[in-house]
Amino acid sequence: MNISSPSAGVGDAEQQTPYLLFDVGVAVAQYRRLTQAFGDATAFYAVKANPQPRLLSALVAHGSAFDIASPAEMDLCLDLGADPSALSYGNTIKKAADIAYAFDRGVRMFAFDSESELDKLAKYAPGAAVYCRIAASSAGAQWPLSNKFGCSPEMAVALLLAAADQGLAPVGVSFHVGSQQLDPTRWGPSVADAARVFKAVEAGGVRLTLLNAGGGFPAAYRQPVRPIEDYAGAIRAAMDRHFDGDPPALAIEPGRYVAAAAGVLRAQVVLVARKSFTDDKRWVYLDVGRFGGLAETEGEAIQYAIATPHDGDGEDGPVILAGPTCDSVDVLYQRAAYRLPMALGPGDVVEIHGTGAYTTTYSSVGFNGYDPLATVCIGDSA
Ligand SMILES: *Cc1c(COP(=O)(O)O)cnc(C)c1O
Repeated sequence: MNISSPSAGVGDAEQQTPYLLFDVGVAVAQYRRLTQAFGDATAFYAVKANPQPRLLSALVAHGSAFDIASPAEMDLCLDLGADPSALSYGNTIKKAADIAYAFDRGVRMFAFDSESELDKLAKYAPGAAVYCRIAASSAGAQWPLSNKFGCSPEMAVALLLAAADQGLAPVGVSFHVGSQQLDPTRWGPSVADAARVFKAVEAGGVRLTLLNAGGGFPAAYRQPVRPIEDYAGAIRAAMDRHFDGDPPALAIEPGRYVAAAAGVLRAQVVLVARKSFTDDKRWVYLDVGRFGGLAETEGEAIQYAIATPHDGDGEDGPVILAGPTCDSVDVLYQRAAYRLPMALGPGDVVEIHGTGAYTTTYSSVGFNGYDPLATVCIGDSA
């Protein structure tokens, strides 16, 4: 089903803009294409990209595993039928009470990237499988993850050996090369780092079995992206090269790739304004903005494709796109050269494509009196 056509608004005639129309079937198709491309890798869907229960249920039904970051995400997955053994607690920053709670609910796989976190895991999740996140460059990523997560490979070696000493089961290494990573070769250097960690840890008497290559697989926004098969091929090739033909099991943590393409955000034009007689740029104010779910327009990093009811008829012209609140950072695109039809006016409903990931979860709880972004689900009812 083509959710870009305005006639496709199944059962949402009453829904006020702005809202996210989310086609679960599209997300499932993305998931299936990804898992097919990666063969026998385990895919842990990163719940934070979009925790919509109908999506999570469909992914449970299709055998997905889940990367969770908090007790709330864990409860959601378990309550929707995910098996605790399919959950990986991937956040490296966890409260002791949250580790104990996850352990109590049956979760047995945890990430860490520091000595202090490892001590907490040894105490509150005794015997659990643990993997160490190493720092990775986000070069080439449109939504970089900076240096907040991951330790150096040297430290990872020491910590993984210490994990075994503390009665935990060290299983491997993870990394994340930045979200919306446009360059499939960016995984290679981190695979090489991980392979060095594997060898050093093995020399210390502990055999690791799992390489977790994280997320970062891109969605097509205004620009097309390389097919997912290129990413799978580049990662497999790097593993063969750096693990001397004997690669470990592979895990991936897709978020954006699964959810983004399934969402179309419907918003209304509130005002079209010119600010001077000489500037040909129009300001187009929508009823959704930076605080209503479009946080990834920060720095104009993620540039969504936008469709209007006037596309294809008549002239278009340059615009600056902005949200409805009285905060002046609530501007979506000023430098990116967006053009929209001259006929566009207040009341027109525009469709912002590729908005299925990192929108509803980034929507603020009522800043300036605007409601959090609602979702209307269609498609796959697994
Ligand atoms: C957010 C996150 C992901 C998902 O990243 P995408 O770029 O959306 O694929 C994967 N793993 C971890 C640990 C994350 O925090």
